[in-house]
Amino acid sequence: MRHDDFPAGSVWLVGAGPGDPELLTGKALRLIAAADMVFHDALVGPGVLDLIGLDTQRISVGKRSGRHSKDQSTIDALIVGAALAGHRVVRLKGGDPAIFGRTAEEVSACRAAGVPVRICPGITAASAAVAAAGGSLTLRGAARQLSFVTAHVKAGQPLDLDWGALAKADATLAVYMGRAAASLVAQQLTRAGRAADTPVLVVVNASLPNERIIRGRLSALAFLVEAVSDDDPAVLVIGDAVSMDAVLAPGSLRQVGQVLERT
Ligand code: SAH
Repeated sequence: MRHDDFPAGSVWLVGAGPGDPELLTGKALRLIAAADMVFHDALVGPGVLDLIGLDTQRISVGKRSGRHSKDQSTIDALIVGAALAGHRVVRLKGGDPAIFGRTAEEVSACRAAGVPVRICPGITAASAAVAAAGGSLTLRGAARQLSFVTAHVKAGQPLDLDWGALAKADATLAVYMGRAAASLVAQQLTRAGRAADTPVLVVVNASLPNERIIRGRLSALAFLVEAVSDDDPAVLVIGDAVSMDAVLAPGSLRQVGQVLERT
């Protein structure tokens, strides 16, 4: 632990994890306590926000799918401006700042303005999702590669992913922002050769008190996400690593009799 790493006029991009405040790192806790301004996303858990001191200015720059309350350049300008005004700035981001977190833009904006900026990693949604389901993202011998993809595209643009690579039988696919495109994802993967009975896991509000774990098969993915509201963050995990059999008996992947089970 270093206490000289957060001088006035600097910025830390801090991973807030998936929502449960106990999933914050010790470093994130220290930086939040030392900050005098915290700019946070909409997806930062309420329990995490409760840890922000009363003397600390707390500013929501929340972006939710389809309802962007502040655009990225405004957020960049806000954090840079706060640091140039001499504040210790924490930019608190859901999950890990390095995964679909617009971190590159914020780091560049700080550097361009001569503002010192550092990054504190966090636990990403896919890790929290498989942990909640008692499973894993990889599986020795069966799931040897892992892709993090976002299924969020600008209106009117196609979901242009390398479906051939993602459809490989030993690949696990963690899909962020994937609710709206779930049926397209299933369709494209199946078309590229992924088995229709590939296990899928949908975890909604991972690590939060209202967490939901939905299990099924790729062929039923579109149906599985129907029960998920637009307002709730959900991550889809696709691949043999999330099969119930993998959890129950690692190394022996048998067919699960049930097409769909919900917990
Ligand atoms: N940087 C974040 C991801 C930001 S993109 C991270 O590393 O987790 C936002 C997407 O992350 C959401 O649409 C959802 O797909 C996923 N997500 C974030 N928090 C989640 C949670 N608690 N439960 C399920 N999915 C979550």
